[in-house]
Amino acid sequence: MRIAVVGAGVVGVASAYLLARADHEVILIDAAAEPGCGASAGNAAQLSWAYGDAMASPALLKHLPAILAGRDPAFRVRWRLDADFLVWGLRFMANMPARRWWNNTSEILQLADESRREMAKLLAETEIAFDYRIAGKLHLYPDAKGLAAARLTIERKRRLGFDQRLLSRCEAEEVEPALKTYQGEIAGAVYTPGDALGDAVAFCRQLTDFMVSKGRVSACFGRKVAGFDQHKGQLSAVRLTDRDPLVVDAAVVTAGPLIHTLVADLPEAAEIQPVRGYSLTVPWREGAPRVSLTDVKRKLAFATIGQRLRVAGLADIERPGSGFDADRFGILREVASAVLPACFDRPPEEVRWSGERPMTPSSRPIIAPSRRMRGLYINAGHGMLGWTLALGSARRIANLVA
Ligand SMILES: Cc1cc2nc3c(=O)[nH]c(=O)nc-3n(C[C@H](O)[C@H](O)[C@H](O)COP(=O)(O)OP(=O)(O)OC[C@H]3O[C@@H](n4cnc5c(N)ncnc54)[C@H](O)[C@@H]3O)c2cc1C
Repeated sequence: MRIAVVGAGVVGVASAYLLARADHEVILIDAAAEPGCGASAGNAAQLSWAYGDAMASPALLKHLPAILAGRDPAFRVRWRLDADFLVWGLRFMANMPARRWWNNTSEILQLADESRREMAKLLAETEIAFDYRIAGKLHLYPDAKGLAAARLTIERKRRLGFDQRLLSRCEAEEVEPALKTYQGEIAGAVYTPGDALGDAVAFCRQLTDFMVSKGRVSACFGRKVAGFDQHKGQLSAVRLTDRDPLVVDAAVVTAGPLIHTLVADLPEAAEIQPVRGYSLTVPWREGAPRVSLTDVKRKLAFATIGQRLRVAGLADIERPGSGFDADRFGILREVASAVLPACFDRPPEEVRWSGERPMTPSSRPIIAPSRRMRGLYINAGHGMLGWTLALGSARRIANLVA
């Protein structure tokens, strides 16, 4: 089949790869000049194979009054009178109770595990270089109460076969010596030795080059897709803004947070709300962590990618396309330098980035045929975990198309 993949972020590039592996003729299209320029560009780089926790959770429910009152710098909600937004917000809250949270989390974990297996195959087949390494991850908990809740989740994850361990502060410092000078409260940590990390942009670019060089995929960058043509309910062509339509047998929409600008009339688009985040990348210095860290209280993720250290965080729920707020970089730097002053205090050549997480109310991505048009498939809405879930989602979409 001739298949267009619309969007060359981590999800689109991974989808193109596994569709091409299934012997389809794949055209990878993106409005940007290069792959990996959207939400995938400056993310926290963490491949959280054993994390998978859905964002709507009982913990967040308890914290909701503080968030809505604007007392938590990590979150910002700008309410608006818009039916889609209000429905999304209500559905998000409906996913917060414990049972719903665990259902969503275990589904995400399953998908993350499929991704881990696909990543192993991809590394063996392609040998692309994107600073991939199994760095392990430490979730730092500030108090005994949080740690007790984490213990229950670890036990449940263990029953599903995921390896996570509870460590005291001393044990965590043995795993990551940089924690000896960490300025935040650490009552204990959850250690996930098998979690990995990698540069998502390098992955997108190298894998695209690999696929094009092998003649498996043709790349079509700097081309914006305006919509899809159909004949009797069956997709017939992809409409480009500045070219003749591209005749295809099927198309996969992997437009991430921009899905609503591409297929606003599809019900799936309303299920995805962009949640803006920010990152700062600085050169790696002696004393910076090598193991990935997540500070649970401050909701910050730290990752060492090659010779760079990145901190990412903040979650701003705003009108789609609102653009970034330069003040939020200041907040991110302030919080990061409070805990790791030697790394972020006097930022030298700091790289700032902001992007939107494509978030569904359940945190579970939409990987499905379109409900409106045969031949059109959706692979979007990967929220906080798109890099982790990209290859598993790509495998599922390739199976669906088959
Ligand atoms: C601060 C932050 C930190 C994060 N950290 C992590 C992490 O550590 N681990 C993790 O797993 N995930 C993380 N994520 C989430 C992850 O980055 C996203 O879920 C993921 O990048 C989404 O990928 P995507 O391919 O769906 O979207 P994108 O990367 O946004 O790709 C979509 C592409 O579609 C293109 N496009 C859109 N509309 C059109 C059109 N009409 N025509 C042509 N092209 C179009 C865009 O140009 C874009 O390139 C983080 C996100 C943020 C914001």
